[in-house]
Amino acid sequence: MKQCPLAVPVLVLAVITVLAAAPVIRAAAYPSTPLEKKVKAATDKLAPELIAIREDIHCHPELGNHLPRTSAIVADYFRRLGLEVRTGFADSGVIGILRGAKPGPVVAMRGDMDALPITEETDLPFASKEKAVVEGRETGVMHACGHDIHTTLLLGVAAVLASVKADLPGTVVFVAQPGEECCAGASLMIQDGAFKDIVPAAFFAYHVDDTLKAGKLGYTSGFMSANVDGFTLEIKSEGCHGASPWSCVDPIVVGAEVVTALQVLVAREFSVHNNTVITVGSFHAGSAPNIIPRSARLEATVRNYGEDQRRTLQEKITRLVTNVCEAAGAKFDLGYEFGTMSVYNDPALTARALAAAERVLGSKAALVEQKPEMGGEDFSYFGRIAPAVMFNLGVVPPELEATAVHSPTFVADEAAIPIGVNLMANIILDHQTRSAKTKTTK
Ligand SMILES: [Zn+2]
Ligand SMILES: [Zn+2]
Repeated sequence: MKQCPLAVPVLVLAVITVLAAAPVIRAAAYPSTPLEKKVKAATDKLAPELIAIREDIHCHPELGNHLPRTSAIVADYFRRLGLEVRTGFADSGVIGILRGAKPGPVVAMRGDMDALPITEETDLPFASKEKAVVEGRETGVMHACGHDIHTTLLLGVAAVLASVKADLPGTVVFVAQPGEECCAGASLMIQDGAFKDIVPAAFFAYHVDDTLKAGKLGYTSGFMSANVDGFTLEIKSEGCHGASPWSCVDPIVVGAEVVTALQVLVAREFSVHNNTVITVGSFHAGSAPNIIPRSARLEATVRNYGEDQRRTLQEKITRLVTNVCEAAGAKFDLGYEFGTMSVYNDPALTARALAAAERVLGSKAALVEQKPEMGGEDFSYFGRIAPAVMFNLGVVPPELEATAVHSPTFVADEAAIPIGVNLMANIILDHQTRSAKTKTTK
């Protein structure tokens, strides 16, 4: 294992940053109850340790579903907290089960652990130097989507809630997921039986937000991310001389018609209020200017929200491709695939968590309503099991206007870590306390 040049001054600086950010929370009446005070004190005490863990994970990123180092850190940390630990879901997925002393429902928090095949270009002392070979090409590996922070938040919330176990109603399942970026980690964890005998009644998660400062929480009620579907289309021809195009079907002309017609489909068959994107991002055909090729191959990504919508879109695209190709007398193969489905943030769960967040963060101004995105996120699969909500945690450093996930220069304000831990611990306690009360008064 390589050693990361973890500079002590960075840790000190991080602690100072955390302390500097603390008034955001202290300004309000929060914390007022004894439990809130315990949670806040436990978070403050843990902050330097969590920041060091984050920097270590950042320095040693791993790709895909096979994350031996990261998952070992998580499993070991959970064990030291006294959680029941189960491993081996989707290869490196881990769950840690914390049973509270009071009766209440099962709830889950998810953190994803995988990094991206990007060569880091920050000058952070804990910048990644890791390399990997992806599709035959050597690349750097970087936590450019903030999953190092998500993993750390998961550990932090587990530690804080474990410290108030005597006051905790019900059970909290901490889900450390591999393979979010590439490899269906969430659905594989479910298939591998992660929730076979312990079924959460709600799922919570964070994603870092590259537009908001630490202390801000982004939220979207309802659909938050898109279905990531797509198709490949091969248009076939006998091929002929470019000087006598009447002798064969021209797959390039047919393909061009398909590309244009798809945009008309979006503009003319879907409401403007219905978010739909069809992008043909790849179109390959031909080898010379005077030869009509034997095939053209198109690849497209198709984005929208909800299950009904994705099926409607598939039907319309299939109809359009079939008709355009048949009108030209072209044979074709259409391969349509449903990928990651859209994240749906349960409105009731979201509203209840936001009420707790407003109290903890000190004002409504800390909560930022955001428009749904057309990107993908496989947290959606947990939403098939129970109501779920993912919040966006502000991590933009104070000196920057914004930062950018999936970029080699992505940086995050570590002050967001204790803020996120404290907030989620309170959201979960609030959820568990209310759910336990509702149950007993029924
Ligand atoms: Zn990402
Ligand atoms: Zn991500």
